[in-house]
Amino acid sequence: MTRNFLAIGECMVEMAPTGEGTYRLGFAGDTLNTAWYTRRLLPDGWNVSYLTGVGRDSVSDEMLAFFEEAGIGTEFVQRFDDRTVGLYIIQLTDGERSFSYWRSDSAARQLARDRARLDAALAAADVIYFSGITLAILPEEQRNRFLQAVRVARDKGTTIAFDPNLRPRLWGTVEDMCASVMAAAAVSDIVLPSFEDEATYFGDAGPAETANRYSEAGVPLVIVKNGPGEVLWLADGVPWTFQVPPVTEVVDTTAAGDSFNAAFLASHLQGADLETSVAAGACLAARVIGRRGALVELPEAV
Ligand code: ADP
Repeated sequence: MTRNFLAIGECMVEMAPTGEGTYRLGFAGDTLNTAWYTRRLLPDGWNVSYLTGVGRDSVSDEMLAFFEEAGIGTEFVQRFDDRTVGLYIIQLTDGERSFSYWRSDSAARQLARDRARLDAALAAADVIYFSGITLAILPEEQRNRFLQAVRVARDKGTTIAFDPNLRPRLWGTVEDMCASVMAAAAVSDIVLPSFEDEATYFGDAGPAETANRYSEAGVPLVIVKNGPGEVLWLADGVPWTFQVPPVTEVVDTTAAGDSFNAAFLASHLQGADLETSVAAGACLAARVIGRRGALVELPEAV
C-alpha cells in the first residue's frame, strides 16, 4: 500500500553569485529542502508531494519541473493568475553571505486560501510536514484555518511533524511568532526545534527546557537539535541524548536542520528506533554542512 508524505510551505527562486555580476538560478526553501531529502531516503512505497502556490509564468513552470525531476509530486501545487513565486539573492561581501528577499506577495502565501482544496490535500496524506516559516507566510486568518485543517487531519490519524524554524523577520511580532508556534505544536505529533533559536525567542535555559515546554504543550515526541551539541529528545516524557558526529570542516550550514529532519523522519517512519533515527538525521546533516548549498547529493546508503 502506498503511503503519502506531504510537505507544505514555500519554495523560492534562489540567485546565487557565480562571479562578476552573474548569478545561478536555483530553487530552495526549508520545507522543500526536507521534501527533497525525504524523497531520496524513503523507499518506493512512499509518495512525497509538496503543497504550495506558484504563478503561471515560466519561472513557476521551471520550479514545478524541478520538483518533478526530484521525484516530488506536484498534484497539490496551486497555480495563481495574479502572483508568482518569491525570490532571494545571495550576495558575497568580503566572503560574508547576505540575503535579500522578494517574497512578501508570493503565490505561496495563498496556499491555504481554498479550504476545500487544502482539506482534500491533507486528507490524502499519511504524514504532514510543515514549519514555522509555513505559518509565518500565511495571512493571519488563513493561518488559523490552516491549523484547524491540520488538527482535523491529525484527529483522523495522520502523523504531523513540525519544525518551529523561528524567523522573527517574517512575523509581525516575536509574541505572535511564539504564540503561533505553540499553537502548531499543540496539533503535532513530532516537533523538531533547534535549541539556539528557541533559547533566543523563548528564553529556554537549556535543551531540556525546550523539550519540556513542547512536551507540556502535549507533543508526544520532541527532538531538540543543537548544532554540534548533543541532540536531546523526549519521547512520552522520557529523555535521551545522542552525541552528533564531529564535523571538522563546516563549509555551509544551510539546510542542516532541514536535512536532519528528513533523515530522522525517513528512518522513524520506516519503523527504526529513535536512537537510530536521530543518528541518521545527524549523519545526513553532517554531510550537508560539509558541502556548499542546501541540496547535496547523497552517497549510495546514508
Ligand atoms: P538549524 O539548521 O535548524 O539551525 P542546527 O544548527 O541545530 O539546525 O543543526 C541541525 C543538525 O545539524 C544538528 O543536530 C547536527 O546533527 C548537525 N550540525 C549542525 N552544526 C553542526 C556542527 N558544527 N557539527 C556537527 N554537526 C552539526
